[in-house]
Amino acid sequence: MEIRIIKGNIISAPEFGKLDITENGYLIAAEGKIRGIYQKVPQEYAEHPIEDYGDALVMQSFADMHLHAPQYPMLGMGMDMPLLDWLNTYTFPTEACFKDNEFARKTYHRLAQELAAKGTTRVCMFSSIHREATLILMEELENAGITGYVGKVNMDRNGGKDYQETTEESISETIKWLDECNFEHIKPMLTPRFTPACTDELMQELGRIAKEKNLPIQSHLSENTGELALVKQLHPDCDQYWETYEKYGLWNDRTLMAHCVWSDESERKAIRDAGVWTVHCAASNENLVSGYAPVRRMLDEGLNVVLGSDIAGGDHLSMFKNITAAIRASKARRIMDDWKTDFLTVEEAFYLSTSAAAPFFGEKPGFAPGNSLHAIVVEDESLPMVRPLSVEERFERCVYRREHGAMLAVYSEGKKIYG
Ligand SMILES: [Zn+2]
Repeated sequence: MEIRIIKGNIISAPEFGKLDITENGYLIAAEGKIRGIYQKVPQEYAEHPIEDYGDALVMQSFADMHLHAPQYPMLGMGMDMPLLDWLNTYTFPTEACFKDNEFARKTYHRLAQELAAKGTTRVCMFSSIHREATLILMEELENAGITGYVGKVNMDRNGGKDYQETTEESISETIKWLDECNFEHIKPMLTPRFTPACTDELMQELGRIAKEKNLPIQSHLSENTGELALVKQLHPDCDQYWETYEKYGLWNDRTLMAHCVWSDESERKAIRDAGVWTVHCAASNENLVSGYAPVRRMLDEGLNVVLGSDIAGGDHLSMFKNITAAIRASKARRIMDDWKTDFLTVEEAFYLSTSAAAPFFGEKPGFAPGNSLHAIVVEDESLPMVRPLSVEERFERCVYRREHGAMLAVYSEGKKIYG
C-alpha cells in the first residue's frame, strides 16, 4: 500500500469560517486517500518515510470552478470594455485561434503547468468550440495531474463570422467529442456558452444530451446589465434569465452558473431551490465593470457558492489572488449596502475556494478522512517578521502575500504534481 506522510503545520477549512490547525502535525494518506491528521505518527505507519516540510504551512489545494482555457493567451489584456463588446472585440477572435491544434497544444501545456504550480488541482473549465483542441486541453490537464471537468463550448449564434458553429455542427461535434473523451481524472461537462450564444434548438438538444448521458452543465448567468437586456429580447416568454436554462433541462444540482451578479431575490431563490451552484468571480466582475455580486446575501440565503478565476475576464490564475479579490469585492458590496452586509473573512473566502466545492466532486469539506489528497505546501520564512507569528496569522499573510518560490509542493489525487 502506498502511504504518504506529510509533516508541517496542517491547515484546513472543515466548516465555513472555521480553520482547523494542527501545528507540527502529520497529514497521512493511503493509496491517495486521506486517513487523518495526527500530532504523532501512529504506530502502523512508523516504517514509512516522512516528507518533512519543517515549519511550512500545509493547506488544502484550490478548486477553480470557472475559467476559460482559450483566453489564457489574452490574460492581462483588453480590460477596457463591458462584457458584450469585450467578447466580440477580444475574446472571440482569440478563442478562434484554437482551430490550430499545434497552437492549442503549446498553449494548453503551459496553462496546465501553471495551474499545477499555483496549487489549483480541481477545475471546471470552458474550452473553445473546437472538438480537437478540447481533447488536447483535457489531455494536457490529465498529464499535469489536474482533475475535474472540461467542456467543449457550444455556440451557434452571435459569435461573429470566424467563431460560430451551425446548430447541426455544434450538436454532432459535441456527441463525437463525448465519445472520444476517455481520461481518468478529467471528465466532460456540457457547456452552452450562455443564452445569447445558443439558439433554442441547440439548448433543447443539449438538455436532452445532459439527461441521456447524465452530464453536469456549466454556463453564465446574470453577469452584466447589457447581457440581461439581450436575453430579455431573445426570450420575451421568460420573466427571468434563469428560466432560459430551466426550460431546456439545463437547471439542476449539477449545474454551475458563473457570476449571478444581477440575480435578484427571486432568481436567487430559483438557484437555491434547484441546488444550482453559483460561481463567484470577483476579479472578473470588477475588471469588466459588471458589478459586485451580493455574495454575503447568497450565502445567508443558503446558495451553494464557490469561486472561479474566470480568466481572462479575471486577471489572475492564482486562487490566492482570487480569494483576496472576493474579500475586497465583499467590502465594496458592504459599502454599497449601507454597511449592512458583512464582508468575507479570510477563513470564509478560503473555504469558498477549497471546501465549498468538495461536494461537487463527491467529497467532504476539509482534509476529511476518505477524501482524495489535494494539498499545497507553502513557506513564508523569507518574509519579514516583527515578532513570532501564530500559524493563523501566517495563514492570513500567506493568502495575501508570498515570495517567489513560496509554493514548495502541490499534491493532487494523492500524487505530487509540483515541487
Ligand atoms: Zn466566464
